[in-house]
Amino acid sequence: MDFSEPSEAVQIKSALDDFIEQEVAPLEQEHDRFLSKDYERHIVDETHRQVEEYREIQETIRKQSVEAGFYGMGMPEEVGGGGVDVLTRALVAEHLANRPPGFHDAILGGAGGPTPILLACDEQQREEYLEPLMAGEVTTCFALTEPAHGSDPHYMESTAEKDGDEWVIDGNKYWITNGPYADFAMVFARTSGEPGDYEGISAFLVDADNPGCSVERIHRTMGLTPGGQCELRFDNCRVGEHQVLGEIDRGFQTAMNWIGGGRINIAASSVGRAQFLLDLAVDYARDREVFGKPIGHRQGISFQLADLATEIEQVRQLYRYAAWKIDHGERARKEESMAKLKGAELYNEAADVAMQVHGGSGFMKDRPIERDYRTARVFRIFEGTDEIQRRTIARELI
Ligand SMILES: Cc1cc2nc3c(=O)[nH]c(=O)nc-3n(C[C@H](O)[C@H](O)[C@H](O)COP(=O)(O)OP(=O)(O)OC[C@H]3O[C@@H](n4cnc5c(N)ncnc54)[C@H](O)[C@@H]3O)c2cc1C
Repeated sequence: MDFSEPSEAVQIKSALDDFIEQEVAPLEQEHDRFLSKDYERHIVDETHRQVEEYREIQETIRKQSVEAGFYGMGMPEEVGGGGVDVLTRALVAEHLANRPPGFHDAILGGAGGPTPILLACDEQQREEYLEPLMAGEVTTCFALTEPAHGSDPHYMESTAEKDGDEWVIDGNKYWITNGPYADFAMVFARTSGEPGDYEGISAFLVDADNPGCSVERIHRTMGLTPGGQCELRFDNCRVGEHQVLGEIDRGFQTAMNWIGGGRINIAASSVGRAQFLLDLAVDYARDREVFGKPIGHRQGISFQLADLATEIEQVRQLYRYAAWKIDHGERARKEESMAKLKGAELYNEAADVAMQVHGGSGFMKDRPIERDYRTARVFRIFEGTDEIQRRTIARELI
């Protein structure tokens, strides 16, 4: 058993630190109102859309990241990616998450960036969609969830019907991350079979300016960066045969094959955030004196920190094991879900402990903790809720 980090991950993390210092930090200083306690008011306009200036910063960092070779690092080299394995990609995600709020989220692209689902692209689609995406010229979004179907997307009501050599898509997609800004969407719709069938769902590549495709409204969220999610509407939206991604009727399987890697990255980011919050709380516990000595000298505080440090290490090893299994060609459905489940719980616990240790000052917007406290909650909901992760784990057991 070797618990050391792969040397490639160590090198990438160090290069990323340099990149952030040289390229990202100056932008953070120049546009610091987007990181201030009033960040939400500055990032979006009155329609709740992210303002142009904020979008441009994201684009600048994205393109610099492409040039520096970080963007799409988890994608294979044959499509212009970095070809790093799942473990290395996750270690980098943990490292990036372990920092104060900043613009570094744009470095890897998040939900709008390169995704292995697009490896299902044929030659023409690679040229038209994947290459510009890998070059940071365009962004995308993953449109699966509907108003009535989140945990059970295979019951979706969106349809795509064949009309001559076109497909006509009708339906609504909800809470789509990067939906308001994506240049094209990966849209899932039923092409055959009955509600509840896993077969019979197909994926389509739909351009944002395709007639019949529109952003219905931008959703307002409790945490995360505001203006990131929207409702997409497809109304008699006609796309060509060349916009079918992968095999017709097998789009759901295409998406599910790749969702595990996403869950591991969420677990890794949760560990990074939790470590950041723990470190803040430890520093505060050392300095803050109450009843004549530092609060860290009281077991009521120090045991909370000890428990949190232990939980962080547990989840860290769990996501690394899940990633290691995938990299060794082993099935890891159970471990991916365990890591996502425990990672989301951990992030919430860390935000709670950090706030408790900070007392009233943790509740104030002057510190980053309240932002994490709000954002952590959605980690238990998106990319499969806690209950859906437990369902997956149970299915693997029984
Ligand atoms: C901020 C944010 C960003 C998102 N981004 C995207 C995106 O980019 N693309 C996209 O397609 N979707 C996105 N989603 C949607 C997300 O994937 C869904 O919210 C999630 O899958 C849960 O679906 P739901 O909200 O409809 O809850 P529901 O499915 O209605 O579930 C409601 C409750 O019932 C529980 N439940 C459901 N089924 C079971 C069961 N069998 N056993 C026990 N309990 C059960 C759930 O766990 C939950 O607690 C996003 C959501 C949010 C909040």
